[in-house]
Amino acid sequence: MARFNWIEFLNKHNIDYVTHGPNVARDNVNIACPFCQNDPSHHLGIHPGSGVWGCWRDDSHRGRSPVRLIMKLIRCSYSQAIDIAGYADRVELSTFDEVVKGLSRQTTKSANISHKPLELHTTFREIDYTVALARPYFNYIRERGFSKSETYDVIERYNLKFALTGPWKHRIIIPVYDEDGKLMSWTGRALSRRAVVRYKALSDDPEFADENNLPCARANIRNLLFNIHRLYDKYYEMLYITEGPFDAIKLDYFLDHDRKMATCIFGALPTDAQFHTLKLSADFYKESKVLLDEGAELQAIKISNRFGLINAGFAHLPDGVDDPGDLTKSHIKRLF
Ligand SMILES: [Zn+2]
Repeated sequence: MARFNWIEFLNKHNIDYVTHGPNVARDNVNIACPFCQNDPSHHLGIHPGSGVWGCWRDDSHRGRSPVRLIMKLIRCSYSQAIDIAGYADRVELSTFDEVVKGLSRQTTKSANISHKPLELHTTFREIDYTVALARPYFNYIRERGFSKSETYDVIERYNLKFALTGPWKHRIIIPVYDEDGKLMSWTGRALSRRAVVRYKALSDDPEFADENNLPCARANIRNLLFNIHRLYDKYYEMLYITEGPFDAIKLDYFLDHDRKMATCIFGALPTDAQFHTLKLSADFYKESKVLLDEGAELQAIKISNRFGLINAGFAHLPDGVDDPGDLTKSHIKRLF
């Protein structure tokens, strides 16, 4: 892939730059750092040959891909920046079967579905403690380690719902968004601890959607990352990666939102598409750590090579805690 042409981009968007001067290294192009509150000069250098960019004043203002800098300079969304950066390979890499599905979708009756924004199913309801029918769902979340007011907060922050009828009957609904905050899918967590299927995601198969009179997910949930739209607001010191959404919710909620966040991969191993998103987003966080479920040492060995490619380490559970779900607020505040 050809290097992003920064000079052309800066000219096109009338962004002032210098190629000589006290802050400019050889071969570099310098601009006022858009991440600094007010850069009086041109403190952010871009090396056109390698594509690497960085600010002379703050170590967190740097990156390898143009995406984060483009977003900041022209205040565009993540996917617009991906387009501008010419990352057309995003589609190619986000797994072959998804592309094939996209093609077949155009030939089915659902041709129009994929153009309309996905909306939460009409059977979904608000989780309100004051409504008797909703209370078991409220209490389920609360019993995972939140106070009453924190539970209200969690429901609002992650837009959690529940259903009394339909395919997600007796489940807590967890919506899943893309990088730009567009609804892509959802999954439903069974309220009953004896449920055979613990999580039930919206299908991305257009034929299944048609046959069952359901909307079609915009992508397979295994290719999405929970909470990912929050990643692009700022630069994070730490991104935690968990397996399931409730672990991610609990961790994310109690973390210092200015510096840290959590996502989940909806399974034990990351898919190619998830891995690719994490890689493309690497300029938005300093470090990432994978938090595995109990007894996952073997799995850790399997995935360490893969996560090693994006510089991810492993987060360890404190003594006496066997499962991420058993972490308390105080554990998270102290140790994460
Ligand atoms: Zn800066």
